[in-house]
Amino acid sequence: MGLDLRQQGVSGRFAPSPSGALHLGNLRTALLSWLAARRFDGRWLLRVDDLDRPRVRPGSEASIVEDLRWLGLHWDGPVIRQSERRGLYASVLSWLRRSGRLYPCHCSRRLLADISAPHGGFTPYPGTCRMLEPFWGQRQGRWPSWRLRLSEGTVAWQERWGPPGTLDGPREIGDVVLRRADGVVAYHLATAVDELTLGISEVIRGADLWASTGAQVAIIEALGVPPPRYGHVPVLCDDDGRRLSKRTAAEGLVALREQGLDGPGVIGWLAASAGLVPAGSRLSAGELLADLRRRPRAWDEAFGADAKDAETNEDNEVREGTEDAEETEDAEGTEDTKASESFRIPPPAGSGEGGQSV
Ligand SMILES: [Zn+2]
Repeated sequence: MGLDLRQQGVSGRFAPSPSGALHLGNLRTALLSWLAARRFDGRWLLRVDDLDRPRVRPGSEASIVEDLRWLGLHWDGPVIRQSERRGLYASVLSWLRRSGRLYPCHCSRRLLADISAPHGGFTPYPGTCRMLEPFWGQRQGRWPSWRLRLSEGTVAWQERWGPPGTLDGPREIGDVVLRRADGVVAYHLATAVDELTLGISEVIRGADLWASTGAQVAIIEALGVPPPRYGHVPVLCDDDGRRLSKRTAAEGLVALREQGLDGPGVIGWLAASAGLVPAGSRLSAGELLADLRRRPRAWDEAFGADAKDAETNEDNEVREGTEDAEETEDAEGTEDTKASESFRIPPPAGSGEGGQSV
């Protein structure tokens, strides 16, 4: 479809949804994604995933921008907003629909909940509407959602650290919703289209998004383009081993700044939590970048272990088929997920142990 605009060199992005202040897990993903691109003098874009209007919080984008600038994580070009790219998504959707890859799904949320496993584990959509005569109109006052028909077989992608990622299409992903019953373009579709049209070559994201990656790679394949490479990094946990989330009011930068931490303290803290520098390090984003260029292996050693193990299948469960609760890029840790074995937040740098420079 002529969507692949990848150029020479590395292109990365950070794609938060403006549904609240970034928490430390989000900020660490931003830092790692920035480092992954800048290590090779690549481009790094900031894309705000603001399609789901009810979830957008006023002032949120401004606070994201301010946090990234304060940390010295500067992006290329203007801030990209998905809400301003709806025309592009609509044209891709109609192209897919004309090509026969989509079918209308009239299943209600209740029906999908009944289908899902009683223990709440992930159950792919069973394809109830797949074999029916397609009816694209309203039924009982409700429009259908549009699903992508996945073929039998494995969905695979290159993984930055470790062996290729694979998921079984029908059994582990299911027919992905691309357009919700309320008419909103689904997060997976918008994200897949954006990776291609923005020329993204490598996506660094939390390991909790492993299943989302599968869905997005399936869409990218349906568009006839090779997917970008992915790097799934372990999710940051709080002291009790729970993943951070905006809803649990995980601490953001404002709280750290109020505790007196400065930029180098925060960067050192985030980098130490990822195993890139010793605990207590103080350094700017630029200094960390220069340091990692001198020690290229440190980068791979930090993540060579099974980042994928932090995946929790519970995350995706019924949401896949529901209309209003989607897993988005920075959904790291909605509160119903169990703890994953991953990094814990270390005590704030400079609190007692003294700063150590790198
Ligand atoms: Zn259905």
